[in-house]
Amino acid sequence: MAKVEKDPFRCTECGWTSQKWVGRCGECQAWGSVEEIAAPKKLSLVAGNVTAKATPIGDVDLSAAHARATGVSELDRVLGGGLVPGAAILLAGEPGVGKKKTYKQKHNKTSQNKNYRKQTKKTNT
Ligand SMILES: [Zn+2]
Repeated sequence: MAKVEKDPFRCTECGWTSQKWVGRCGECQAWGSVEEIAAPKKLSLVAGNVTAKATPIGDVDLSAAHARATGVSELDRVLGGGLVPGAAILLAGEPGVGKKKTYKQKHNKTSQNKNYRKQTKKTNT
């Protein structure tokens, strides 16, 4: 069973422990020596191998990024024509303004539309 530390912060100079982080050790008065005992080690981030050659933005094929109408006219208007495959849309607003209703309308329209599902499936593969 793992030992549960009562005081999660400890001075690296003298071993003094504390319930919360402090900038100066309460025992030896050293500045910046108090560290979290169970803190994860500092991560070093290294970029992975490049898997694809960079493409100039002017050469990017935009045909896959066309908005597809959802069938909910107001939603399509706000989204600039509809949903773009692969895009994440955040639907935010005050409680009761119709976020869930809008989502359900969109879901109902697109789930009934076989062409929409085909288009979406085609672009996802
Ligand atoms: Zn100390």
